[in-house]
Amino acid sequence: MSESKLIVVGGGLAGLMATIKACEKGQKVDLFSVCPVKRSHSLCAQGGINGALNTKGENDSVEEHFDDTIYGGDFLANQKPVRDMCYGAPDVIHMFDRMGVMFSRTQEGLIDLRRFGGTKNRRTAFAGATTGQQLLYATDEQVRKYEVAGLVTKYEFWDMQSAIIDDEGICRGIVAQDMNTMEMRSFKADAVVVATGGLGMIFGKSTNSIICTGSAAGALFQQGVHFANGEFIQIHPTAVPGDDKLRLMSEAARGEGGRVWTYRDGKPWYFLEDMFPAYGNLVPRDIATRAIFSVCVDQGLGINGENKVYLDLSHIDAKELDRKLGGILDIYEKFAGDDPRKVPMMIFPGVHYTMGGIHTNYGHMTNVLGLFTAGECDYSYHGANRLGANSLLSAVFSGMEVGPKATDYIKGLKKSANDISSTVFDLELKRQKKIEEDVINSKGNENPFKLHEEMGKIMTENVTVVRENARIAKTEGVLVDLMDRFKKINLSDTGSYSNQSLLFSKQLWNMMHIARVITKGALLRDESRGSHYKPDFPDRNDEKFLKTTMAKYTPNGPEIWYEEVDTSLIKPRPRRYDVDKEVK
Ligand SMILES: Cc1cc2nc3c(=O)[nH]c(=O)nc-3n(C[C@H](O)[C@H](O)[C@H](O)COP(=O)(O)OP(=O)(O)OC[C@H]3O[C@@H](n4cnc5c(N)ncnc54)[C@H](O)[C@@H]3O)c2cc1C
Repeated sequence: MSESKLIVVGGGLAGLMATIKACEKGQKVDLFSVCPVKRSHSLCAQGGINGALNTKGENDSVEEHFDDTIYGGDFLANQKPVRDMCYGAPDVIHMFDRMGVMFSRTQEGLIDLRRFGGTKNRRTAFAGATTGQQLLYATDEQVRKYEVAGLVTKYEFWDMQSAIIDDEGICRGIVAQDMNTMEMRSFKADAVVVATGGLGMIFGKSTNSIICTGSAAGALFQQGVHFANGEFIQIHPTAVPGDDKLRLMSEAARGEGGRVWTYRDGKPWYFLEDMFPAYGNLVPRDIATRAIFSVCVDQGLGINGENKVYLDLSHIDAKELDRKLGGILDIYEKFAGDDPRKVPMMIFPGVHYTMGGIHTNYGHMTNVLGLFTAGECDYSYHGANRLGANSLLSAVFSGMEVGPKATDYIKGLKKSANDISSTVFDLELKRQKKIEEDVINSKGNENPFKLHEEMGKIMTENVTVVRENARIAKTEGVLVDLMDRFKKINLSDTGSYSNQSLLFSKQLWNMMHIARVITKGALLRDESRGSHYKPDFPDRNDEKFLKTTMAKYTPNGPEIWYEEVDTSLIKPRPRRYDVDKEVK
């Protein structure tokens, strides 16, 4: 067989880790990213990465980490992969330590740990408040080593358009577009790993970077790749509202002692501490989100009558704050104009993370042979809700898993991509060029940026914190209408024709498909679980919905069905954060 090739799409932590692990086995890799890999969204992660290192003497353990993750995810995650991840976590942190990541230390020189929501122990290793950046840079340094050795070729500013799938249903490469020259090309590969991150842009404003469109997942979905648990979207309780986008105030701020409050009857009301005495300000994200939402929207007690409450650090020593949270406090000061060391910050919940994603088996392979996935776009590790600081872990861990798995798969192949008829590659390239021509030649009066704004608004209003069936059903109708209107977009008459608007329009179409998956999944799941809350169905319904939501493309909209969840290791138990003593 001629020299084999692995394509990795995504240069965030998951993609880079997959690349390193494949290279360690001698595998050649083509690495694609819509931005320089060092600008991937992993860069923005602030608070830290979880691993039961127990350096604080709290008797923390891997089993406890596993239990918190399953419990926090409201039992919707398949348990075996989660346990593997939690057992791998301490080694992941030690590996980064050896790579040179400057983790914050205790006075004794041990890796310091902070508390995050949904845990009772300190388990989050951090490098000040720029953990993602430190991990990403360290990982890319390792990839550069393999670049120099000729094993890795980077394609930065290349946008994956689709997978190339042969007549036997096997993935043989991708079509990608150079975002500078707009050249579109087919690339052969013996296996493809998709690690394209989250999809916050579907909701318009979110804490995600604007490159987090979910477009690649949307394109794959239309090609028959299954999507799982789409309705589980994490809303971060402490986002900083902004006109252009939301900025995150990391959970580390609560972890370091931040208190959430508003005024009631003219006096400060620390409502999280009041409502949830066991966890106080450190309840998991969905619980904190709903509490803030209820205080502002239902009770009208937001600051100055607006949808905002205080997140207060001003009682903590400023030097201590600088040491542990400096980076993010500076970001807040820059955008909000107030110094959070002196004045309480103002926050409100915002779209933050995608628990659902591309469906895979335990070997990270999708339902298309030779097509693998890892990182935030993989649905595997977080069930109905993700614990803070578990996603850097899942991105790194899944990357470490998928690299060798894809390489082994390639070794077992009887036929290399080079032995496949060139027609397979030409046909997919032609199909993508036709899609592009249709967008360019569309002569209606719709503006794609306006359609995106409308989609983001209705998705945020109806398919985030509180979900009511009538409003979700209305959203479905609006999405169908937006897709119709998309067919009448006009890039030249709106004055918005540019490479960027063309690329964005194509991404928008893919986003719309995933928006429909999210919406339909939310509509059909008549229960409340993790991040998915329906006031009309306030309880978790294990009998009917302790199941993974599966979605596949049909021309008439997504088809939904359900699959059993592996609960063989921890028996599902009620999820309560409102009592001092929990029964585990
Ligand atoms: C503000 C913020 C703070 C966070 N803080 C934390 C934290 O403290 N701890 C924690 O555990 N988690 C945190 N998270 C979540 C965490 O950062 C992400 O889940 C994780 O970094 C995702 O890594 P990834 O490799 O899957 O994706 P990303 O880092 O998003 O990388 C995706 C890659 O895919 C590429 N790509 C995308 N589409 C295409 C395409 N069509 N063609 C080619 N390339 C493409 C991009 O260029 C990029 O290289 C935070 C998230 C946000 C929004």
